[in-house]
Amino acid sequence: MVTENSVLVIGAGISGSSTAYHLNKQGWDVTVVDQEKENSLPIYNNPAVCINPNIMINDKRFNRLMFSSISYVWQLIEEIKLGESSAQQVGSIYILEKNEGMDRFNRLIKNNPDLKNYISVISPKKIWGRYKIEGSVGLYFSSGGWINPKDLCKRLLINKNIHKEFNTKVTAVEYMENMWSVSTSNNNKFKAKNIVFCSAADIKNYHYFSHLDFDQYRGQINWVDSEQIQFAEILSNDGYVIPVFKNMSIVGSSYDKNNSCNADSEVDTKNNLKKLAALLPTLNYNSLGVHSGSWVGQRAASFDRRPFVGRILDHEHNKYLNKKNSVASLKWQKSLYINACYGSRGFSFAPLASLSLANMMCRSLGNMDNFILDYLNPERRYFRSKGLKKHGIKF
Ligand SMILES: Cc1cc2nc3c(=O)[nH]c(=O)nc-3n(C[C@H](O)[C@H](O)[C@H](O)COP(=O)(O)OP(=O)(O)OC[C@H]3O[C@@H](n4cnc5c(N)ncnc54)[C@H](O)[C@@H]3O)c2cc1C
Repeated sequence: MVTENSVLVIGAGISGSSTAYHLNKQGWDVTVVDQEKENSLPIYNNPAVCINPNIMINDKRFNRLMFSSISYVWQLIEEIKLGESSAQQVGSIYILEKNEGMDRFNRLIKNNPDLKNYISVISPKKIWGRYKIEGSVGLYFSSGGWINPKDLCKRLLINKNIHKEFNTKVTAVEYMENMWSVSTSNNNKFKAKNIVFCSAADIKNYHYFSHLDFDQYRGQINWVDSEQIQFAEILSNDGYVIPVFKNMSIVGSSYDKNNSCNADSEVDTKNNLKKLAALLPTLNYNSLGVHSGSWVGQRAASFDRRPFVGRILDHEHNKYLNKKNSVASLKWQKSLYINACYGSRGFSFAPLASLSLANMMCRSLGNMDNFILDYLNPERRYFRSKGLKKHGIKF
């Protein structure tokens, strides 16, 4: 029987597995569908992702989202008891030329005094002593770390009450008789009262999302064997290095718009190693030898680099509305949600944003949820273009 709390989650990456986890925890009847075989999701081949912040000096709302999200990641990891071989909060350090670094830090703290609790400065002397990097300061972020994507996503889906349908590509979706019906490439049909699209760039195949502006970006990371990289923290500037993860260090990553080639690229490998050389100039590159592996992935990123999380308007109906109409009179697609387009920061942002989405679906919202759902509202561009005030939206 299809219950009121039934939901189809399309996609089992970090946004889909987080959404499924939170909804299952709140008693929903969850079915997750992914086109890939159970152990073959593209993201499972990335050995480790970093959890480290972007530094946005003037964007207080972004900073609030970022720091809350990253704190939540470690809370979740503790809650699901993911071990040290799968995730570690080792800290991350943003390396900058010393004057530029101090200037950025001072402006950041001036505009965002709360961030004093999260970021501190490591002096040039210490940076030289520890990493042999000259003339630089480090902006140290104690909540930085790394996660193995496969271990996290699989653990989030471990509960037997979550129905998992792998190797099942969604080919069509329709809303009929008050429920969502999904057809798949293996001729299955799934029905539920609610549907959440967590299938990244695949959303472009459904007319509900045709107004959303996003692109796909190819990326490549490489890993190297090196006994020289013997520190625990993540270092970053233009690129990043995750040191000594299962006997290898991960370096990355490249960014190429609308390039769908998933083959390893020598040019990207060279660029990633160049970024490593710029970060750690005293490394002996001969002893790094040839790179020992790589991973290529695609990331869908929205026009403003913020994911789309929440409900979608029924634009067919709303085209008859004008500026004078109140937000309350807008019509939304029934029981349809999106949680996608996380760009380069899915593992930092998706766990908390998915919790807010689940809370919205459960109609039990707190202040943080309201903030997140407002900031990541998929219709933010439409609202701005129509001069509509978002106040009054009922999430
Ligand atoms: C090189 C590289 C390095 C990165 N490094 C980091 C990092 O260090 N830190 C970080 O936080 N993020 C990083 N990212 C970004 C991160 O990987 C993404 O933000 C994240 O994976 C997005 O998760 P998602 O669940 O939204 O999408 P995805 O992981 O793309 O999951 C979508 C799922 O939907 C499934 N799907 C698609 N279409 C269908 C369909 N029709 N039917 C059924 N299933 C379907 C797919 O098989 C897929 O499993 C990196 C990305 C790249 C490419």
